[in-house]
Amino acid sequence: MFGERKRKARRAKLAHPDEGVRVYAKFFMSHKITLIPGDGIGSEVSQAVVRILEATGLKFEWETVQAGAEAYEKYHEYIPKELTESIERTHVGLKGPITTPVGGGFASINVQLRKQFELYANFRPVRNLPHIPTRYPDVDLVIVRENTEGLYSGLEHEVVPGVVESLKIITEKASTRISRFAFEYARNNQRKKVHAVHKANIMKLSDGLFLRCSRKVSKEYPEITYGEHIVDNACMQLVMNPYQYDVMVMENLYGDILSDLCAGLVGGLGLVPSANLGDGCAIFEAVHGSAPDIAGKNLANPTALLRSALLMLRHIGEPAAALKIRNALEMVYRDRDKLTKDVGGKAGTSQFADSVIEAMGAESLADAGATTGKGTSSTRAD
Ligand code: ATP
Repeated sequence: MFGERKRKARRAKLAHPDEGVRVYAKFFMSHKITLIPGDGIGSEVSQAVVRILEATGLKFEWETVQAGAEAYEKYHEYIPKELTESIERTHVGLKGPITTPVGGGFASINVQLRKQFELYANFRPVRNLPHIPTRYPDVDLVIVRENTEGLYSGLEHEVVPGVVESLKIITEKASTRISRFAFEYARNNQRKKVHAVHKANIMKLSDGLFLRCSRKVSKEYPEITYGEHIVDNACMQLVMNPYQYDVMVMENLYGDILSDLCAGLVGGLGLVPSANLGDGCAIFEAVHGSAPDIAGKNLANPTALLRSALLMLRHIGEPAAALKIRNALEMVYRDRDKLTKDVGGKAGTSQFADSVIEAMGAESLADAGATTGKGTSSTRAD
């Protein structure tokens, strides 16, 4: 009996008889993901990314629920209970950008979701894509942004007419937790340095506490060099020499600002991904916002959300699919005409997605040629 299974496995080129069961299980297994399409360019970029993910051959069960102004029209809630229940069920979300009204209106849905699900770490890898001209090639750094407090606490009030107060909340618990996240990431990913970014010379109590927590955590990681830069200096240093940084950890607002600055270093907001990570669940979204200026025009670059989806694939245990898309993406980036306008191309959002899907087909053929030395795959998947 076992001999027969072994022979069948050999005929099917499987390494072990049980491999067949694993391949079979994988073939039929589908990943349940909560999809929040978002608004502005959200629906365009999410549709493009979903198409690319499905073209990998993996099976997904999308639980699609909207949030923000569009959700309000349907459910009379900005974060409908259907969305909360879905994330509690799937533990993984892929989210397009959601517009936050400026200077009034409802509170940021992005911030509320991060708080509601205790997604305390915002992980933002910043890397160049090949063939996109930028001031610096081969930038490779990671921003770790505290996601639940700081000036994003939403605690503002008018003290007397003409005077308002905005509270910046910094706690020992959240500062220690985010610093530990940054150092653990550095240790597990062969990163050599962690810089804490702060303004403790002015905000002596709040940023002072953040810094004390970072220093204390750094002592547990003697193999990693620890540095501290004041936020304004960090901005200048990034523009002058981004290579000096490896992992940067900071509180909420500094993370927001430095992320956009770093996006500019590697070709713009259309390219940079992020993951909101907590102990129980994770939501993957692009660094950029809903870009209302280009919404509905088939102009948006879906690369940032796609790269966020690659982080998601690794998170759900599908690194091979992530690698396949990443290689296809790099292939597409060799041909300027296939790119969207923000990075100098002529293609629309959906044509760009078509090119990535087509390149995935070519990539599979290249894989087949890998044994003859014709394969082009690289091994990094994000
Ligand atoms: P938020 O504060 O909500 O993050 P933001 O102020 O950073 O938003 P965005 O909506 O991200 O603003 O847009 C900033 C600029 O970048 C806009 O001009 C927009 O067109 C451009 N942009 C953002 N995302 C993309 C994208 N995916 N493709 C092309 N251009 C983009």
